[in-house]
Amino acid sequence: MRQADLVLYNANVLTLDEQRPRAQLVAIKGGKIVWVGDNDELKDLEGRKTRKIDCQGKTLVPGFNDAHCHILAFASSLLSVDCSPSSVSSITDIQARIRERTQKLAPGSWIKATGYNEFYLAEKRHPTRWDLDQAAPHHPIKLTHRSGHASVLNSLALSLAGISAESPEPPGGLIDRDLESGEPNGILFEMESYIDKVIPPLSEAELEKGIRLANENYLSLGITSLQDATVHNGLKEWQTFHKLKESGNLVPRISLMMGADAIAASGLPPRYGNDRMRLGAAKIVLDETTGRLHPSPEELEEQVLQAHQAGFQVAIHAIEESAVGAAARAVAHVLARTPRRGHRHRIEHCSVCPPPLLEQLRDAQVIVVTQPAFIYYSGERYLATVTQEQLPWLYRIGSFLRMGLMPAAGSDSPVVPNNPLIGIYAAVTRKAESGDELVIEERVSPFEALKMYTQAAAYACFDEEAKGSIAVGKLADLALLSADPTEVPHEEIKEIRVEMTIVDGRIVWQH
Ligand SMILES: [Zn+2]
Repeated sequence: MRQADLVLYNANVLTLDEQRPRAQLVAIKGGKIVWVGDNDELKDLEGRKTRKIDCQGKTLVPGFNDAHCHILAFASSLLSVDCSPSSVSSITDIQARIRERTQKLAPGSWIKATGYNEFYLAEKRHPTRWDLDQAAPHHPIKLTHRSGHASVLNSLALSLAGISAESPEPPGGLIDRDLESGEPNGILFEMESYIDKVIPPLSEAELEKGIRLANENYLSLGITSLQDATVHNGLKEWQTFHKLKESGNLVPRISLMMGADAIAASGLPPRYGNDRMRLGAAKIVLDETTGRLHPSPEELEEQVLQAHQAGFQVAIHAIEESAVGAAARAVAHVLARTPRRGHRHRIEHCSVCPPPLLEQLRDAQVIVVTQPAFIYYSGERYLATVTQEQLPWLYRIGSFLRMGLMPAAGSDSPVVPNNPLIGIYAAVTRKAESGDELVIEERVSPFEALKMYTQAAAYACFDEEAKGSIAVGKLADLALLSADPTEVPHEEIKEIRVEMTIVDGRIVWQH
């Protein structure tokens, strides 16, 4: 047998490889897994230069793969004023935090704040421009909603963005207004790309700082692969990520989705890149913020057709029942016109999915990419705001599995924190942070949940040959856990810590 660079032994290895589900030892050479076996094989694998790690019975799993996240938004949120529910509980708190930030910034410079969720604020409403003006009238402010699909600007920021009572809504966007005067109240829906044009981008130093913090967070959580689902991604972001990868500041492997137009314009072929960074799906955002679907079903079908015929996988963001239905129909129509086996077209979120839709999704053979941690972080809000009629169809997981939709899991970070173990806990227990349970019929086993963050996530971006299980020939991306999520009582899953993270056979993080 060959001499390994690194051998992890005395481990409880959950391989997620059906050929050999459990093992004690994993040997690595040249960044790849070269042996999976038992402790007594250690002597055959070690040479003079072999590094050996006694895992002391801890659990080794394939590195987590976050199937849907937003890396630059997360990095930037780490530099912004934190207004997430774990940090603020009222609009008054938000004002205080923003006021504090003004001390460090010259008047006129932008203040970015992120993560608010009106449901978890004492006032139970969105902040307005006037609330933000009270905190900082001389700094333009952009306060982004936790979802990333809404934001609030203060008066100075609105005027810099050229948004006034006379402004028409841009396509797909919505300017919330005072009903009598028509004056914008500062709350803007689906207008990120519009607003971001007037905000100076992060400087290179800021970006590097944010990415370093983000990288540390990912690795501390055992995340070794990230699928970036940002619809604004294009060639420019590809180049930015390429640089970040080259500099070593962003260690996890990246699958970069791009907006459907940008991916066509990029000239890059499907799956362009290498194991460190690859081109992912063509992302399309389909929503009904303005009361009707945008893009229209016809436009959607055209976009899916273009990407499909160019050989790309599509990833359609669809939350509302109407959007999920339109996405399923668009994929079905396109496949009827141009059949392709193994297309793996994805629907992201698929938040409300009644039984007839489940069947449509199965017939179109789509993959669902879901966000189990939403149940934990937003479950209380769903229970209070989702209708009784829709509640049973909310963030289904068990049904997706039974229907063969190969669900993969992502965090949608920075919408909620990145921790995959919180997602696994939520998928298994269907519990919100408050302890309330949400549609327990949709529970899955800890093993199935683990699979959604590893094997199924790799499959969802055509990476299953290289990732997602611990088997000979695969990339040596691993996470060592303090306990076995498939063995501990379910309540303890959320307490499991990551002890060590390995990417490409290198130890990149240790507790
Ligand atoms: Zn997203």
